[in-house]
Amino acid sequence: MYKRIVLKLSGEALAGDRGFGLDSQRVQEITSEVVEVRKLGIEIAVVVGGGNFFRGVAQQAKEMDRVAADNMGMLSTLINALALQDAIEKHDVQCRVMTAIAMDQVAEPYIRRRAVRHLEKGRVVIFAAGIGNPFFSTDTAASLRAMEIKADVLMKATKVEGIYSADPVLFKDAVKYDEITYMEILQQGLKVMDLTAVSLCKDNNLPMIIFNMNQPGNIMRVAQGEKVGSLVTA
Ligand code: UDP
Repeated sequence: MYKRIVLKLSGEALAGDRGFGLDSQRVQEITSEVVEVRKLGIEIAVVVGGGNFFRGVAQQAKEMDRVAADNMGMLSTLINALALQDAIEKHDVQCRVMTAIAMDQVAEPYIRRRAVRHLEKGRVVIFAAGIGNPFFSTDTAASLRAMEIKADVLMKATKVEGIYSADPVLFKDAVKYDEITYMEILQQGLKVMDLTAVSLCKDNNLPMIIFNMNQPGNIMRVAQGEKVGSLVTA
């Protein structure tokens, strides 16, 4: 069982089958699992993406200045963070949203020591607005925050069982890796996470687990140390 974990949720995960916006049923299901993990005594911080609303690199932003588009992407993560916070607090579990872009009326600024203190006090922490800089992704934010708060593991929730030799949706003969190194991911060009995030984890020996979040109970299983998904080590 891990003591402190960072869970990366993509924006899409919160959109359910619609693929856009928020599906309240899905938000309920995911947050119930996060709350279960917290109730086991595991410290949990969530990094949430914003792809269910806006991505800086999306087709719809093609004509836009990249910085402006990325700023819109980062703001969209705040919408998701607030939805998650609301759903978590319905379970009588305290939850704080910390944002990398100042937004005092809406969420606390990200301050590392304060984030750690919240976790120690049993609060769920949600990191929003990525790292606060354009040209990055929330995957990179997840790696960075996990290292800053000294998490034991970075759990990345996806739609498939783990890391495969090829896209398992397109290639039926794709093989799943139970364990793999960061270097192998980089060398084989596996599209698990963006490369900045992967190299950051590699350089700092942060273990990562890629797992299927559409399987109910998986967040809990991974957090308890069960062998689910693919384990990535340096
Ligand atoms: N973004 C950014 N800097 C960051 C994190 C995110 O500029 O540190 C922007 C970027 O435009 C990105 C969008 O926010 O496309 C949403 O984040 P992401 O694509 O990582 O969300 P996810 O795919 O996990 O839903």
